[in-house]
Amino acid sequence: MNKKVDIVMEAAFKISDLPLGFTAKPGTTRKFKTGDWRSARPVLDRAKCVYCGFCYIYCPDGVYRDMGAEKYYQVDLDYCKGCGICAHECPKKCIQMIIEEV
Ligand code: SF4
Ligand code: SF4
Repeated sequence: MNKKVDIVMEAAFKISDLPLGFTAKPGTTRKFKTGDWRSARPVLDRAKCVYCGFCYIYCPDGVYRDMGAEKYYQVDLDYCKGCGICAHECPKKCIQMIIEEV
């Protein structure tokens, strides 16, 4: 059975601080910095990017930000889980997944 966690916090916290098998109140996603358990990060080669937006569309966590006039997308590593979907879907293969160093 899931344990319900009422998250009312002033500061961000680590996912590892939470109990296993919990559910959280809706509207708290912003407080979960899911990037702290990532094992690889996406690195974008802007010289090859054609600004198609596939990375932005396919990222399941919606962590790509459209940089508009600069014509590229930037990932918010606080929330990137390192799943690699963006790198897989990029038609120009300009996103490399780099192993995180600890
Ligand atoms: S999917 Fe690849 S080519 Fe398209 S905007 Fe993202 S990084 Fe650029
Ligand atoms: S690695 Fe996964 S979570 Fe991170 S930006 Fe790419 S698609 Fe999103």
